[in-house]
Amino acid sequence: MNSVQPKIYSFDEHQISPDKIDEHAVYVIQKLRHAGFKAYLVGGGVRDLLLKQNPKDFDISTSARPEEVRAVFRNAILIGRRFRLAHVRFGKKIIEVSTFRAGENDSTDLIVRDNIWGSEEEDVLRRDFTINGLFYDPETQEIIDYVEGYTDLEKRILRTIGNPEVRFIQDPVRMIRLIKFCARFHFEVEPSTFRALTDLKEEILKSSSARILEELLRMLESGASKPFFQLLHQYGMLHSLLPEMAHYLNMRPESPIFSLLGEIDSEIKQKIAPPFDRCLLLSALLFPLFDEFLRARAAQENKSPHLGTITTTAEHVIDCIFNPFFSLPRRTKSIVSFLMASQYRLIPLDGKPPRRNRPPNDPFFPMALHLLKFRSIIDTSLLPHYTLWTEASFNAHAKVAAGEEEPSARPRRRRRR
Ligand code: ATP
Ligand code: MG
Repeated sequence: MNSVQPKIYSFDEHQISPDKIDEHAVYVIQKLRHAGFKAYLVGGGVRDLLLKQNPKDFDISTSARPEEVRAVFRNAILIGRRFRLAHVRFGKKIIEVSTFRAGENDSTDLIVRDNIWGSEEEDVLRRDFTINGLFYDPETQEIIDYVEGYTDLEKRILRTIGNPEVRFIQDPVRMIRLIKFCARFHFEVEPSTFRALTDLKEEILKSSSARILEELLRMLESGASKPFFQLLHQYGMLHSLLPEMAHYLNMRPESPIFSLLGEIDSEIKQKIAPPFDRCLLLSALLFPLFDEFLRARAAQENKSPHLGTITTTAEHVIDCIFNPFFSLPRRTKSIVSFLMASQYRLIPLDGKPPRRNRPPNDPFFPMALHLLKFRSIIDTSLLPHYTLWTEASFNAHAKVAAGEEEPSARPRRRRRR
């Protein structure tokens, strides 16, 4: 393979302040170098530093093999089969250290294993987008660029490293990642990369559903979920992944789904709350579709279902949306259906006031109330209900704290079968 001379950008050009870089990541790099290996900061961390954003994580790429990394750090464990790497732990923080890998060349086979070691240049060439292919050397404070990623970042362009068609066929999850970066940074997609995305979108079904589900859930947590799901729908990929949802959005362009996601994004960006539980995020994504289904069915049968039936219907709707491609963990499915069904406990389907407004002492009730909060922000007619329930919940807590009332949630005994 012909070796390319990388472009080097010094501190004077990139202006990345060293105090923005995680001290543990710098320590890991130094220690690997003292042990005789090459090591750099790489990927999303470098990209985010150049965009003046706070990186979510600092990944390191090294010439040391996973076992060699483990030998250097007592606090390292090795993980992954498809993609073997080391996690170096510092309390709750994890620094991910991966070994330089060679790419897939031009083969259009789906990649199932990715553990062929390579040079630092090869390691960049197997990465997805040019903006994710930059190395940073904390000792010299230089950016090392083999793929013109630095200028693409300046021009705000998303471009695959190598032929986009080949790269998307090799790993279709890259298409989801492309949409994720579009949503997050509002960059332009380079024309041939965009053409490949349009032509190959159905390839996405060939990749692992667990990996895609993880990317979708990460996007719900990202603060850019609204533009992400809008683009996913606009580029026709939602149709492949969640056909029922795409169909619903085509029928109901005015659906509150995107407004709900927008509210979640703005709470996440303002960091009002601790990170949201994924079940709450999923329930916000699914609720509008479920609500419409439930109301249509109630109208058809001319009666309001009781809560038990509503919960089973919620499970059925979740199955219809996620099947056949995805399978949600059972526990997630049951919490999400609880959260959606609880909305009708808070505001009954028939519009009558609830029979009791004593908050159930269920550990998931606060999440159900939070879902109602999101709904009331976009539909202010629900606001009085939300206020009433929030007060009732506050009073119930105050009574328990004052010892006036026993918490009603004594753990229920399970009946033996
Ligand atoms: P985020 O900010 O969401 O973490 P990221 O780009 O850092 O974005 P990671 O999943 O943390 O995403 O991946 C780290 C790096 O690994 C990427 O920047 C990219 O260089 C490389 N990478 C990740 N996924 C792929 C893939 N499917 N194909 C090729 N390279 C990838
Ligand atoms: Mg990352």
